[in-house]
Parts: sequence; structure tokens; C-alpha cells
Amino acid sequence: MLDYQEVLNTIYANAIQEKNKGIVASYIPELKHIDASNFGIHLRLITGKTYNVGQAETHFSIQSISKVLSLAYAFSLVGNKLWQRLDVEPSGNPFNHLALLELEHGIPRNPFINSGAIVIADILISNLKNPKEDFLNYVRDLTNDTSINFNKKVAQSEKNTGFTNYAAANLLKSFNNLENPVEDVLDFYFHQCAIEMNCTQLSNAFFAFANQGKCVLNKTRLTSSQAKRINAIMLTCGFYDEAGEFAFEVGLPGKSGVGGGIVALLPNEFVISVWSPGLNDKGNSKLGMQALEQFTTLTKRSIF
Ligand code: GLU
Repeated sequence: MLDYQEVLNTIYANAIQEKNKGIVASYIPELKHIDASNFGIHLRLITGKTYNVGQAETHFSIQSISKVLSLAYAFSLVGNKLWQRLDVEPSGNPFNHLALLELEHGIPRNPFINSGAIVIADILISNLKNPKEDFLNYVRDLTNDTSINFNKKVAQSEKNTGFTNYAAANLLKSFNNLENPVEDVLDFYFHQCAIEMNCTQLSNAFFAFANQGKCVLNKTRLTSSQAKRINAIMLTCGFYDEAGEFAFEVGLPGKSGVGGGIVALLPNEFVISVWSPGLNDKGNSKLGMQALEQFTTLTKRSIF
């Protein structure tokens, strides 16, 4: 029988020995003080069984991982109308790309590049009464955890320095692909990125994508078709310009963020979350990628 705890222990032992842990993101000033030696994993099987190792309970900034949750919320609210305003093609762009180059006639290439996530933020603002609060409650509900919150300092830090995102939002506006004022949309976007979670919460938040759209409490939050489509976008677009490499090395749908988190899943089997804040030169957690490669190799569990 596969001993998941032993697999996680092995991965942890390998990770803490690694000398080159990558470089912590500094372009959002509030993130640059995080200690690169943090490393945690949480695994949740579809049966409900859980395993963890290292700093699985330490909170970190989920950043771009939030784009999957905002997409899920918008998809469940407006359905396929969503795809009139954005596409689902991989971008091949680096994480700190000039967002302006991603736009084809004002239609972002996918919901996980910044311009795509900004359009999703706009759709949510148009469809929610209290956008930030409603989104936070959606995430809390998915995760079954009311303690999840925004880190306001991180949101403010990105607001002060997020010039590329302002440029992207203004360009979208000029193409008539933003309904709400740029300031409002970016305020929402910076807050969604500044949500903090630990690995355990992240696995729980993403459980619905592995469980045909049913969240940790087994309530339907997405149709199984919507979950399937979001998993497809994670596989093709979830890792900046390293989505091919992640599919090649790991072989799971997933999403990373510049806070050093990665969440990945095997539909109907498990969700796994890793946090290691040092990034590789593509903006993905260096040891997180290595850990997940080891996990799918040691367990022989991947979509391929
Ligand atoms: N809030 C970050 C940005 O817009 C997200 C970056 C990321 O995790 O990819 O630059």
C-alpha cells in the first residue's frame, strides 16, 4: 500500500537539504521579507484523508492562485457568457510580462494572465452587491473556513507599485472590455490576490475542482462540466510560461502564485498544496515544482 506520509517525509527531507531555494518575489514590496526556508505540504485525498509535512499551517499570500477562485465564482454566476470577454489559450508569457502584449483586440488570452483576471474581477464587480466581501465569503464557503482573510498591507503594497496592472486595466477599458472604473476593478483585484491561506486551507479551497464541483462539505458549487473546464485551463495556463514544463514534469492541473504557493490536483483522487516562497526564474516556486515532480513520480499518480 502507498504510504503517503512517507512520500511527503521523503520530499521534505530532500527540500530542506536543497541549497538553492530560489528567490522570494520582491516586486510587491510587502512580500520580500518572507523567509525562503519555509516549506510545507498538505495533501487531501478525495476520501477526506489528509497528510501534511513542514509549515503546512503557516499563512502566505496566495496571489495568482486566487485567479482560479475568481474564475470559478464568475463562471458559476454568468456561465458560458464569460467566454465572450476572454479566451482560453495559453499565453507563453513570463509572469512579469508587459500585460499589454497579451491582448488580442481587447480579449485577454486566458483568465490567468493578469489582464484576464482583471476582466474576471470586472465581471464579479458587475454581478455582486458587495464585491470584496462577497468574494471573500465565497472563498470561505468553498473552504469551509471563516478565518480566511485579506492581508490589507499586501493589497496596499501592490496598489502602490502595480503600474503594469493599471496599464493593462486602462487598455482593457479603451477596448470597452471593462464595465467598471479602473480604480474599482484594481482595488478588487489587488485584494483577491492578497488573500492569505495556509496549505491546508488551499487544499480545501480547491477540493471542488477534484470532486466534480462539490466542495469540502459535499455541496455543489460548480457543475462537473465547469470543474472540468477550469481544470483544463489550469493545465494549459496555470504556470505562466512554464505550463508546458509543469505538465511535463508533474502532469497535473494546478496553479501557482508569486507568494510561492502551488496547488495541484488529480480529479477524483486528491488535491495537494505546497508552499516554498523562493521562486525560479519563471516566477514559480522552485522547490514547490520539484516537490510535486517527486510526488507524482514516487506515487505514480498523474493525469498521464
Ligand atoms: N498580484 C500579482 C500581480 O498582479 C499576482 C502575480 C502572480 O502571482 O502571478 O502581479
